Amino acid sequence: MATFRFPVHLLLGSVVAVGCSQEWVATPSNPLPIFDNDDVGKPVGAGGSSSSGGTSGGGQTPGPCVGDPGTPEIVRLGKVPGKTVLVGCVVTPQGAINGSVFISSDTIVCVGASCTDDPDAADATVVRTHGVIMPGMIDTHNHILFDIFNEEDWSPEKLYQNHDEWPNEPRYGAMVDAKQWLNGELALPDGNGGTAKITDPRGCELNKYGEMKGLIAGTTSIVGSANPLDKICYGSLARTIDQKSNDLPDDKVQVATLTPSKATGDAVCQKFVDDLTDAYVIHRGEGVDEYSRAEFDKLGTLTTEPGCLYAPETTVVHGTAFGEAEFQTMADKGMSLVWSPRSNVFLYGGGTDYTKTTDIKMALGMGINVALAPDWSLGGSQNLLDELKFAQEVDKNRWNGELFTPEMLVDMVTINAAKVLGLDKVLGSIEVGKKADITVISGDVTKPYDTIVGANPNDVSLVMVNGIVLVGDAVLEEAGPKWVACESLDICGVPKFACVAEAEGTDSDKLKQTWAEITTVLSTELEAFDARDLTAWDFAPLAPLVKCK
Ligand SMILES: [Zn+2]
Repeated sequence: MATFRFPVHLLLGSVVAVGCSQEWVATPSNPLPIFDNDDVGKPVGAGGSSSSGGTSGGGQTPGPCVGDPGTPEIVRLGKVPGKTVLVGCVVTPQGAINGSVFISSDTIVCVGASCTDDPDAADATVVRTHGVIMPGMIDTHNHILFDIFNEEDWSPEKLYQNHDEWPNEPRYGAMVDAKQWLNGELALPDGNGGTAKITDPRGCELNKYGEMKGLIAGTTSIVGSANPLDKICYGSLARTIDQKSNDLPDDKVQVATLTPSKATGDAVCQKFVDDLTDAYVIHRGEGVDEYSRAEFDKLGTLTTEPGCLYAPETTVVHGTAFGEAEFQTMADKGMSLVWSPRSNVFLYGGGTDYTKTTDIKMALGMGINVALAPDWSLGGSQNLLDELKFAQEVDKNRWNGELFTPEMLVDMVTINAAKVLGLDKVLGSIEVGKKADITVISGDVTKPYDTIVGANPNDVSLVMVNGIVLVGDAVLEEAGPKWVACESLDICGVPKFACVAEAEGTDSDKLKQTWAEITTVLSTELEAFDARDLTAWDFAPLAPLVKCK
């Protein structure tokens, strides 16, 4: 997100007088509810664990979550934007508690039994969620510009042994051409004997499409590997966490798909020393053969100082071909692992052989930090909620369902993922002082982790990035920003809203595009590419934002 996404008056909260157009205005059809602090945020649970580090506020002891049936509701509209209290079952590092979270500007400032009692929250908007309030999910492995495609555009023609085999297939190549044409990477015949690239490259729209796929499913940060790097337009919707426009002070995340050159490897090691890189996230060992396994050895030998990339900053994406020796080195060196099971089983296991994905049981047994991520929507999961379910499926089929608890899986898409990126002090949990990236899931709050793992995008009732509600149930639209009209979306039969266009966006940075404009542009360009009839295959329409169950 661009740094200007959060208007200055929001950053300063209520101490700055704001114009009428920026205030929350009660209308006859939507009167300001009469609100009494006693009505909201009371712990309805009895007893339970006491709050510890990372929570503050309320002066009451938060209890375990107890049933709170109902649909999400705005209990009070605040007088100024930028302050929100979410009431419900809060997933904290100490477990799920019955309580509330107070967000001021882009930061979590209270987590506890009753943050509504915080004097500074007196003018906040209060949302009673009747649901599970969890950290926004973090996708540590995606190829976001490909997320307009799915397996109807290309699927494996056979079982593969490694990641160098399938890119050679003509249909896969044709699909890559379509992506590269839209993104302005590829020149095509211009009809006058020469070649030309697309007049207006659509990388911004491609990136936003992928971010939106994540956002509606509760994902608030995505490692998307978009290129070219650091475009301003990446600064909207979910955080483009591996690039500068991530709304954080620094970008210390480096991503690599291929084996780096010696010079690049040496430069990465130097950046570790100089504290310029906190996370080096590199694909290694994607496949099931010795060729794939040996990529781990190559990582250790390619640099001038052997083994300098075997470091706590380095995360291996995949590790599918790894065995005890590789995982032992990773554990000894404090390296992390990103696991993408559905993509692995799709490419190397015919969609059904669950042994053709990484031996996560072994990795976990050695104490390696593991995050879970989709890879892309092309045979990988369309979002993290689906990937959570696939991880459970692998567990059931390969390890008798005894490997993961739902809580472990939730950690793998939140705090473990933040650790992968070296951002666990900033993101990945609901704690005072962290950035306000929060997802709310409707469902049974007495089993909050099961509810999260079992959720689908229609159950995602609110998603907040950097303190701003960008997506949610239609009934919560008043809690969203008012800078531009938000748009209505139907997500698997449930009416939602999405706030995509930014008031301060321009034509050139593309931040003022609406969701309707983004999808229209991409559809039109993809159809125009198909109309050139360069190959036997067509790639329109766009893969759906969500394929409903
Ligand atoms: Zn990948």
